[in-house]
Amino acid sequence: MSIRLRKTVMSVLFGALLAGNLPAQADSQDRLPDIGTTAGSTLSINQELAMGDFYVRQLRAGAPLINDPLLSNYINQLGNRLVKRADSVRTPFHFYLIRNDEINAFAFFGGNVVLHSALFRYADSESELASVLAHEISHVTQRHLARSMESQQRSAPLTWVGALGSILLAMANPQLGMAALSGTLAGAQQGMITFTQANEQEADRIGIQVLQRAGFDPQAMPNFLQKLADQSRYASKPPEMLLTHPLPESRLSDARNRANQMRSTPVQSSQDFLFAKIRTFGMYGSPDRPLSDDLLEQWEKGNVREQLAAKYGRVIQFYQAKKYDEARNRLQPLLASAPTNPWFLDMMTDIDLGQNRAAQAISRLQNVSGIQTNPVLQLNLANAYVEGKQPAEASKILYRYTYSHPDDPNGWELLAQAAAARGLRAEELAARAESLALSGQLDQAIQLLSNASSLVKLGSLEQARYDARIDQLRQLQQRFRQYQKS
Ligand SMILES: [Zn+2]
Repeated sequence: MSIRLRKTVMSVLFGALLAGNLPAQADSQDRLPDIGTTAGSTLSINQELAMGDFYVRQLRAGAPLINDPLLSNYINQLGNRLVKRADSVRTPFHFYLIRNDEINAFAFFGGNVVLHSALFRYADSESELASVLAHEISHVTQRHLARSMESQQRSAPLTWVGALGSILLAMANPQLGMAALSGTLAGAQQGMITFTQANEQEADRIGIQVLQRAGFDPQAMPNFLQKLADQSRYASKPPEMLLTHPLPESRLSDARNRANQMRSTPVQSSQDFLFAKIRTFGMYGSPDRPLSDDLLEQWEKGNVREQLAAKYGRVIQFYQAKKYDEARNRLQPLLASAPTNPWFLDMMTDIDLGQNRAAQAISRLQNVSGIQTNPVLQLNLANAYVEGKQPAEASKILYRYTYSHPDDPNGWELLAQAAAARGLRAEELAARAESLALSGQLDQAIQLLSNASSLVKLGSLEQARYDARIDQLRQLQQRFRQYQKS
C-alpha cells in the first residue's frame, strides 16, 4: 500500500526545535535525581506521556510522515527489539519515519522516536541503523529531555510548557506567516530543548550496551559516527544530526574505545532491513536523488539477501515508472518462491490496483494463510475491497483493525471511504473525526462527531457512542490547552 504524502516545510523546523544553543550545564547534570521523582520539580511519567501524545498529533498534522505500513512495521520491530534490552524503560515506545533527506533522528517525550528517511541512505548495515535507534532510546530512558527542561526552568523564567506548545503548534500550522515563524525560531534559539555533551556521552554509553545485548555489532556505533564526522569535514554544511546531537572528537574516540572492549561478532543485516532500505530509497527518496542503479548493481553482486533485495528494488523502479507489466513480470517469480512475504504481496496488490485489477488482488490476499494476524496485509485487503467496490467487506476488516490499531490514521481513512461508499454518512463522519483527532484537529473532530450524532436515531446506541467520544475529546482538548498557553 503506498500512501500519497502532503509535503510541508515543517520538517525543517523540527531540527531547529532541537538545535537550540543553550550553554552546556554540566554541573546541573550531577545534581539531578536519577529517576526524577523529586516532588514538584520533575515531570511525572504521566505528564511526559500526555506531552508525547500532544506532540505526536502535531507531528502527524505538520510533518511529512511516511505512513507506509511496511516501513512503520519494520522500524517499530527493530526499535522494540532494542527497547527490550534497555533498562529503565517506563513507557511504550513508538517509532516514526519522516521523509527528509537530511540525516537526523530525535527522541521526544513518551517514548516517541522520529527517524529521517535519509538514515536508510547512510546506514550501510542494520547494525548502523540500530546504533542510531539505540542512542535515541537511551536519551529517553535517561530522561535527558525532561532534565534539560527542568534545568532550564530553574535557570530561566520561562513557562517552558507553554513555550514548547507554541513551538509545536507553529510547526504544525502551515498557515503561519514568516514573522510568526521567526518568532518561534527565536524561542528555539533560546535553548528550549538541547542535548548537552554529557547527555550525548551517556546516550552513547548506554546505547552501545543496548545495541550489543540486542545482538547487533557494537562497532556499528563508532562507524556511523565516523561517517557523520567525515561528512561534517568535507560537506559544505554539517549534517543536521550534529546540531541536535553534538559530536566532538572525544565522543567519537570514546565510542570507538567502548566498542573495542566489547566482543565483536559479525552480524549480517536482515532481509527486512535490505527491503526497507530499498523501499525507502525507491518510494520515498528525494526527487533529485532517485533510486540509482549503483546500489542495485552492488547488491546484485552481493550475498543472497542482497541479491533478493536488488530484485525487489528493480520491481520498485518499474512500479514507480508505472511500467506495471514489467514490474509484475519481475515480481511474479519472487512471490512464487515466498507466497506469504508481505513486501511482495503489498507490491503485487499495488500493481494490481494500478492496473484496475482489484478482484485479482482480493482473491490473492484472501488465499494467503495467516492473513488475519498480519496488520499490513489486512490493510492491503481492505484497500483492495474499497477499490474493488466491495465496501461492506472492507468495513468488516476495518472495524477490527481500527479497534486494535486506533492510532493508525490509515485504518480510519479507509473506514471513512468504505462508509461513504455504503452511504453510511454518520459512520463516515465519525471515522473522519478519528483521523482528524489523530492529527490534533480536535475542534473539527468534535464538530464531525456532533453532526454524526444528530444524524442517528435519538437515544440509539450509536448516538450514545458518538456523544461519549465527544466528551473524551473535550477532555483531551482541556489537557492540551495547558500546552498552548504561553
Ligand atoms: Zn543524541
